Amino acid sequence: MVSYKEIGLVNTRAMFAKAVKGGYAIPAFNFNNMEQLQAIIQACAETKSPVILQVSKGARNYANQTLLRYMAEGAVQYAKELGWKRPQIVLHLDHGDSYELCKSCVQTGFSSVMIDGSALPYDENVALTKKVVRYAHRFGVTVEAELGVLAGVEDEVAAEESHYTKPEEVVDFVTKTGCDSLAISIGTSHGAYKFKPEQCTRDPKTGKLVPPPLAFDVLKQIEKKLPGFPIVLHGSSSVPQEYVDIINTHGGKLPDAVGIPEEQLRKAAKSAVCKINIDSDSRLAMTAAVRKVFVEKPGEFDPRKYLGPARDEMVKLYKHKIINVLGSDGKAK
Ligand SMILES: [Zn+2]
Repeated sequence: MVSYKEIGLVNTRAMFAKAVKGGYAIPAFNFNNMEQLQAIIQACAETKSPVILQVSKGARNYANQTLLRYMAEGAVQYAKELGWKRPQIVLHLDHGDSYELCKSCVQTGFSSVMIDGSALPYDENVALTKKVVRYAHRFGVTVEAELGVLAGVEDEVAAEESHYTKPEEVVDFVTKTGCDSLAISIGTSHGAYKFKPEQCTRDPKTGKLVPPPLAFDVLKQIEKKLPGFPIVLHGSSSVPQEYVDIINTHGGKLPDAVGIPEEQLRKAAKSAVCKINIDSDSRLAMTAAVRKVFVEKPGEFDPRKYLGPARDEMVKLYKHKIINVLGSDGKAK
């Protein structure tokens, strides 16, 4: 058993309370490799932003869970080396799908876990979440739960509304489970293709897709039912068009990729939404930078020469999100 406290990590409790009060959101960035982690820590150290390092089940399989946990430990030391005196870093399991997985993360130094029972019938989601909360809280580990299903690109347009989190369920769910934060569905979704072209309108000037707005009325109702309770948004990448364009003009193929406009996320960050998950945007930044080197310098074969620029691009992206979208800069001095 390794406690996250020994590694210098923190859980989300105080971080979220401050964020809800302060009207900003904590960045939750996924990582699978060293360059992503370096970029996240560098960006957060430079802006003094609290941060949630997210590891998905897929990342655990890809990078190895033992390695990831030592990388997170290394991240705390690296942050200090960069001059960040008291780094506020959470190591969080993204989309835990079983009690066993959550338990294993609690035992290996995670300070926060998500148990995602949102695809289960309501009562089963409650039971599973409650079980994880009971275990995690014994070790001071905070738990994120989910209610409502994130719309996927394959879903029928007409069915999407019914996937939104039902405001009338949230008080019962939070009370029964004791979870520390709640991921809700108000129209965000995972990946770089968040909406089908027929769900969007087209900007007549640029010909680019304009996605439908988030359901802020649902968010408002939830906030009213759970005043001050930390709300989480998944699938909140914006899919920056400049990256999509670089990828597409350098041998890639991402037609009609579309995300959540940043002004909508900025609005959400000022509300009870205190954790915003961003994964696809960093993948796009990395891919754009790597593709550019491959096309411009076809003779290059030193990975540092293309992963280095990719890392620099991610630092730029993370800092932009922290300062211009989430407003979390300067909140962990
Ligand atoms: Zn998610």
